Amino acid sequence: MRASTYPMLAAEEAAALVLERTPVLPAEEVSLAQAPGRVAAADVVAERRLPAFPASAVDGYAIRSADGGGRLRVVGESAAGRPFSGRLEAGSAARILTGGVLPEGADSVVMVEDVDQQGDHVVVPAGYQKGRNFHAPGADLERGDVVLRRGQPLGSAELGLVAALGIDRLSVHRRPRVGLMSTGDELVEVGREPGPGQITDSNRWALLAAVRETGAEVELLGIAPDQPQPLRELVVGAIQRCDALVTSGGVSVGTHDLVKPLLESLGEVHVGRVKLRPGKPFTFATLPDGKLAFGLPGFPVSSLVTFEVFVRPALRKLQGCSALQRPQLPVRLAYDALATGDRTEYQRVTLHREGPDLVATSTGSQSSSRLMSLAGAHALVRIPPGAEGYPAGSYVEALILELP
Ligand code: AMP
Ligand code: MG
Repeated sequence: MRASTYPMLAAEEAAALVLERTPVLPAEEVSLAQAPGRVAAADVVAERRLPAFPASAVDGYAIRSADGGGRLRVVGESAAGRPFSGRLEAGSAARILTGGVLPEGADSVVMVEDVDQQGDHVVVPAGYQKGRNFHAPGADLERGDVVLRRGQPLGSAELGLVAALGIDRLSVHRRPRVGLMSTGDELVEVGREPGPGQITDSNRWALLAAVRETGAEVELLGIAPDQPQPLRELVVGAIQRCDALVTSGGVSVGTHDLVKPLLESLGEVHVGRVKLRPGKPFTFATLPDGKLAFGLPGFPVSSLVTFEVFVRPALRKLQGCSALQRPQLPVRLAYDALATGDRTEYQRVTLHREGPDLVATSTGSQSSSRLMSLAGAHALVRIPPGAEGYPAGSYVEALILELP
């Protein structure tokens, strides 16, 4: 066993360093069917106004407001997609349906509930103002309005907007392809019975979900043994095809921990140890051609917490997101949180509301092997380094995973 020679970086410093070294992948054009969940690579500006014509908001009668209080002759109809062709003259009304074009000459729509229908005439209420019950052209969106900013993920409203504007292809960032590999001689594939001293590889499946959630594509690379040559071959093959490699295990200082020296021989290791709990041996390297390698610790909670703190923001940056971090909110501790000397600690908590406060309760033993501390957690409470810790009732920052 040798002592690690890597400097211990502060968690925040390491996170900043990872992002500094993370590129943004180039743009490509996709159809709207491919666009959900992708990230806009350019601003989108409206080249049309919405609505394009004065469109009725209700079913009723299009009138001239000056005719309010009168008995008007019904001269035709304007339905959605089937406009009234003529011009509305004084003393007349046109039946209009929701989405129908307001006929020329009309300046208001009376709701059907407000008129007295008398054969081919209607009596409309007095004092009806101009501009009632229809959407004026450009009321929703003017030509030149920015509807989408570069870096914005494409959700439902965003896609609806661009479709409404007639845009059928969008420039989005390429999705990162992430190779996912577990390392360790003790690991067996899920579904196989572990022999003496063996355990089932669970990290790859946990990380598969974590990577997919970011919008990246995953290539599952299986289990690499703790032997330099096979590990090297797997890694070298994978980085030809992937933008980023995520491994778990093999980054502490045991003689079987081979990931750091391998990454050093292939590229440049920027982070080899972090003042973080869980996750001290987290490793980050850059490889030729702008590729990234993340060596996550083997303990299941350590691998997922370091994924949250370092890898998730980087995968979001690769695909061009402008918001890289989980939302953070102050929470009130319902328990005494001990600090961990010089390390930043991310404690797993559930949250509930008490008045205006979000109150954080520990998920129990915070052992780095206990995945149950993360299952169902709503947030990671960030306890900064220090001697004293934070007594119950203190307010601290939390990374929100999911609100209750
Ligand atoms: P390591 O960082 O390789 O020293 O691994 C530390 C510990 O994490 C191991 O002793 C295992 O108990 C656990 N571990 C490593 N890899 C995995 C994995 N893929 N799935 C589940 N547990 C793992
Ligand atoms: Mg190992």
